[in-house]
Amino acid sequence: MADYTPLVQIFRDKIKTYQENGKKIFASSSFQSHSLPMLHLISQIDASIPVYFLNTGYHFAETLAFKEEVARQFGLQLQEAASPIPKIAQRDANGLLFFAKDPDYCCYLNKTLPMEPMLAAYDVWISGVRRDQNANRSRFEYEMPGKYGTLRFHPMLEWTNAMIARYLKDHQLPQHPLEGKGYLSVGCEPCTQSVAQMNAQNEREGRWAGLKKTECGLHTDLVAQ
Ligand code: SF4
Repeated sequence: MADYTPLVQIFRDKIKTYQENGKKIFASSSFQSHSLPMLHLISQIDASIPVYFLNTGYHFAETLAFKEEVARQFGLQLQEAASPIPKIAQRDANGLLFFAKDPDYCCYLNKTLPMEPMLAAYDVWISGVRRDQNANRSRFEYEMPGKYGTLRFHPMLEWTNAMIARYLKDHQLPQHPLEGKGYLSVGCEPCTQSVAQMNAQNEREGRWAGLKKTECGLHTDLVAQ
């Protein structure tokens, strides 16, 4: 089933309700191919909603260029956030950057920590997580309480890969330049492998390959317990 139309209407209706109730809204995105339906819909519903990119300093050059091109093409209000901790202070006793020995702490410093000011400043956080991405996200709801009183809104939760592909085709949206090389989920360069080269099945198996880690913390630590 690739008809995404009813899910688009839910997205529109929710944004309208938040705005009628005076809620301050922001979105975050990692600017991958499968992020584009949500970003395109934001540009159609209200292009003034700020879209934050968490710049860890470890992204592929292709992602940084793609982000700029998509934001320009869609007319998005692109914002960037980065860790308040300089990279020189993100090393262990042997001088190794934390992603090599303690990726959870590296993700905390470069993803979770920079997101906290937005959670304090806004009422609603639009995040493009999907239920079929992993076990953690399969338990999510459309709306969930986030940390610091923020409401998490997950408009893409029920979207399937078929719906994403259909939307991209229907609207002739561009493709992340690494997707053609088998990078179906693109995060930071040190922690991302090509799913095609791994012969993996799930798009997220290329993230933190070989580790039990499946999330960076945005969708675990920043969910209110
Ligand atoms: Fe660090 Fe890797 Fe997490 Fe990026 S994905 S913040 S490099 S541990």
